[in-house]
Amino acid sequence: MGIYRDEEIVALRVGETRQVICRDCSTPQQWTDTKEDDIITQQSVDKKDLVYFCDTCKKRLKVQEGKRTAVQHSRLVSSKSSQ
Ligand SMILES: [Zn+2]
Repeated sequence: MGIYRDEEIVALRVGETRQVICRDCSTPQQWTDTKEDDIITQQSVDKKDLVYFCDTCKKRLKVQEGKRTAVQHSRLVSSKSSQ
């Protein structure tokens, strides 16, 4: 039995057809009924060996490419003309 943090779980697999359902489309009841085999974690999405799509909204589950902050250092452009 594994322990997962809530935010690690990005989607579930539900029903006999094991449809993928993202957080936005799933109901609280589906979350309650979910077994460990039925969860899709952010880790497995990030591995990129499989691509997951939600069968309800057809959106692709997002890959988190690390925790990149969009802070850009202002570049110091030194334009010294050499003689
Ligand atoms: Zn969805």
